[in-house]
Amino acid sequence: MPELVDGLDSKSSAFGHVGSSPTAPTGVMGTYRRFPLSIVKGKGCWVWDDQGHRFLDAVSGIATCSLGHSNRALRKALSRQLGKIQHVSNLYKILEQEHLAKWLVEHSCADSVFFCNSGAEANESAIKLARKYGNLSRGIDRPLILAAKGSFHGRTLAAISATGQPKYQKGFEPLVEGFEFFNYNDIKDFERLIDDLERNGPRIAAVLLEPLQGEGGVNPGEKSFFRRIRDLCNEKKILLIFDEVQIGMGRSGRWWGYEQLAIEPDAFTLAKGLGGGHAIGALLVKNHADIFEPGDHASTFGGNPFACMAGLTVAKEIERRNLLSKVQQRSTQLVNGLEDLVKAYPNQLKEVRGWGLLQGLVFQEEWELNSNCFVRSALDQHLLLVTAGPKVVRMVPPLIISAKEIGELLKRIEATMSICCR
Ligand SMILES: *Cc1c(COP(=O)(O)O)cnc(C)c1O
Repeated sequence: MPELVDGLDSKSSAFGHVGSSPTAPTGVMGTYRRFPLSIVKGKGCWVWDDQGHRFLDAVSGIATCSLGHSNRALRKALSRQLGKIQHVSNLYKILEQEHLAKWLVEHSCADSVFFCNSGAEANESAIKLARKYGNLSRGIDRPLILAAKGSFHGRTLAAISATGQPKYQKGFEPLVEGFEFFNYNDIKDFERLIDDLERNGPRIAAVLLEPLQGEGGVNPGEKSFFRRIRDLCNEKKILLIFDEVQIGMGRSGRWWGYEQLAIEPDAFTLAKGLGGGHAIGALLVKNHADIFEPGDHASTFGGNPFACMAGLTVAKEIERRNLLSKVQQRSTQLVNGLEDLVKAYPNQLKEVRGWGLLQGLVFQEEWELNSNCFVRSALDQHLLLVTAGPKVVRMVPPLIISAKEIGELLKRIEATMSICCR
């Protein structure tokens, strides 16, 4: 079996073709190392492969299918929408877009929304906005954006340039200019960087941060670090932009990751969970950052009626089913179970960390097992997991997961653990 890693985390070998099948070419470019598994059907937290095997899904299409698979409300709303209108372009007013924007601004610190189709695109929008803001509001000619080491912001050129992990950048130079990096949760390093860069006047337009680093290893942000960054940004009129693509939209047990940190950003991005499995991205801004004018930015598909109906249905279902408080309960249950596992395997497991239903099981450095091997082994227990770097196994089940299913998830992780330690 070829070495397997999760799609977002994968870096193909320099020459090898790393498509799914080592035998016949599939016609699909080899950008992903895929598991030898074709998922053809899903219901709630469960999926079936083409052989009829059933798997418990703690991946949810990488934190996207928040309502689980084949959700009834989503199916109904979207088939109705397909029968009505699917796409018209932003040449016209789009009611579904306005409804979703209204919901988002009523439930967050933001005042207006730009819609696009993915996380990377949402961050691209944020980066363009930051540069324009730097020009306009701080009078900077070639503005800089500060970002954290270990971050992940997506795969477009600007997004990999903003991503503080060289493995995503290697081979794609020249990168987009204007990004500088500091250590996450290290306020001294952040202050040093700001002092260095602004010694002779304003140069920084924005700070771009994940409230919790997802792909980079499930690292929750620390309140004191973010509090101090918020104060410094206020003082200097630097925009604080959050990448909430993975943690936003209820995954943390609150609507937004910034609520966990008790501060508000000036702007933030969303994607993954927003569409419940359908492609949608968004940049949300407060009034003072609402500086795009007609012609500044656009997306053909962005905010189409279908995608916005998906987003609106996800939002309404999370509210109607009171899923935020359920996420908190299930999270406690999951974390308690995983902590027992860490106690049982002190030489292999280091800790559990995360917020809500985004949890990472962290290996001891000395344990030679790679998280990919663990994830592959979990497949034998009919459990889908995803890595977050070489030493962290990530769990991002649908937000609708039941107490019984969390129990099942824990049982299957325990079984995987005991086999990996044999
Ligand atoms: C997944 C992710 C992205 C990229 O989203 P795409 O939809 O794959 O472009 C950006 N930022 C964070 C925090 C993510 O988790």
